[in-house]
Amino acid sequence: MKAAILTIGNELLSGKTLNTNSQFLSIQLNSLGFEVVKHLTIEDDETNIIKTIGELTDEVDLIVTTGGLGPTYDDITISSIAKSLNCEMIFFENVMKDIKEKFSKYNSKMGQNNISQAYFPKKSIILKNRYGTAAGMFLEHEKVSVVSLPGPPNENTPMFNEFAMPLIQNMGNGKIIIKDIVIFGVGESNVEEILNEEIEIDKEIRIATYIKPRYVVIRLTSKDGSTIEKISKLIVKIFGNKVVGFDDINLEKNVVELLKNKHFKLSLAESCTGGMISSMIVNIPGSSEILERSIVTYSNRAKVDELNVSTQSLEAYGAVSETVAREMVEGLYSKTKSDICVSITGIAGPDGGTKDKPVGLTYIAIKSSKGTVVEKYNFFGDRNTTRHKAALYALNLIRLELIE
Ligand code: AMP
Ligand code: MG
Repeated sequence: MKAAILTIGNELLSGKTLNTNSQFLSIQLNSLGFEVVKHLTIEDDETNIIKTIGELTDEVDLIVTTGGLGPTYDDITISSIAKSLNCEMIFFENVMKDIKEKFSKYNSKMGQNNISQAYFPKKSIILKNRYGTAAGMFLEHEKVSVVSLPGPPNENTPMFNEFAMPLIQNMGNGKIIIKDIVIFGVGESNVEEILNEEIEIDKEIRIATYIKPRYVVIRLTSKDGSTIEKISKLIVKIFGNKVVGFDDINLEKNVVELLKNKHFKLSLAESCTGGMISSMIVNIPGSSEILERSIVTYSNRAKVDELNVSTQSLEAYGAVSETVAREMVEGLYSKTKSDICVSITGIAGPDGGTKDKPVGLTYIAIKSSKGTVVEKYNFFGDRNTTRHKAALYALNLIRLELIE
């Protein structure tokens, strides 16, 4: 089946906004087995939208639009689509109710213009927006289906994943089943190479890879659930402990779940990550059951005061060293008595690197009843990239400790 992506918004054409929605949607649609044949970007202009939708209905089975679902005068996507397809628009009571509730929840006054956001073509299936007021739409009209999503990526992505994808999966003949296998610590080209070598081509199943920042996702799509399960098991066997889990799993969710299952407490001593790891963990509901504390020991003095690191070690080896990482984690372990303790010390850059200790050099130490292990990494990238990588590798160490 063929698909087109139509991104609507003057800000895209002026260059003020980078069109990331097209890339995201293309990856998703391709992995669902659609052939994406067109990306178009047009202004918030009624005549233009009517004309473009009209043309695309003859060319593709599915049109996905983004942008122009807001309450202001230039948000005309839905009404223009309705005009183009000659569909009657009606007022959706439940959409209005939802918008009103959002405004009252945040104690702000709803404007008259928000009412326009409750009108959709009569046959629409409404797509909920959990992160904004603009609802989206799924519409089947004669031989074309149209999905309309809001412009802001933080609204667009969850709406697509949660509400549009299940409807798109049902298009054509038979429901498509999707399973994502989330891999950490192997590059995408490497993953593809391994898949090509190890897995025989089977026309019953489509195997595609895509990147979620710092993870590689292997997406299996098929109409046959047992084929999905068979290939999924095989892939898990091939990639072993590089598999974090399935579908919307990530390292922090996985770590919280593993710690909960064992009734374990975790403590952290973070230097270069400055609390990033604990913040990622605290993002996960239920983390209070497992996180005992996180200490940001950024300065040398903090490492001495809080973790009992010796000044001699700091002087002799420097703060970013195997010895100091080890002393940090041991100090933390005796202070907190947590089941798992992790310390992290590294050079985030852009300054502060030397030939022996380049930017990105990071030591992560983990201590449990099994003993202490210190791992050395050389992360590549700018300051935030190296810090984010450090946080993820620390979470990964905890994960491995818990599953092995
Ligand atoms: P709209 O739904 O048209 O009001 O868009 C609201 C905001 O979403 C815009 O100001 C942009 O910041 C963002 N946005 C819209 N379209 C895109 C796109 N194709 N890619 C990334 N961001 C977008
Ligand atoms: Mg707009």
